Amino acid sequence: MMDMKLSSDSQYQKMATYRSVRSMLDLFYALKLSRKDLRVLVGLLTVHADLNRHVTFMQVCTDELCPLCQEVEETTLHLLGKCCALINQRLEILGSHYLDYEDLAILHWRSLLRLAKVSKRF
Ligand SMILES: [Zn+2]
Repeated sequence: MMDMKLSSDSQYQKMATYRSVRSMLDLFYALKLSRKDLRVLVGLLTVHADLNRHVTFMQVCTDELCPLCQEVEETTLHLLGKCCALINQRLEILGSHYLDYEDLAILHWRSLLRLAKVSKRF
């Protein structure tokens, strides 16, 4: 029983180490991004991207609407997961026509950044 616990602890340790190394590699890759891309990515991940909903809240602009579809306020979720103007690009890059926060949360940040760049909103 004790050996089994040690074995599973050891296995967990290996998995944790693997995840840590992978996260560090991802971070190093991220740091090689241009300053602009890194800024866009951080904005998307923190939901503080320079999209109309946020810049209106910051009193930088007065129009919350999405300039791509003109249907609803432009938020991070709308741009990445809902905007009908990006439906084909979303399917090609993220694998689905529409996505919710839960779906977006499990996607790799490179894919989110790629869709954001294709949207030409940054
Ligand atoms: Zn839209």
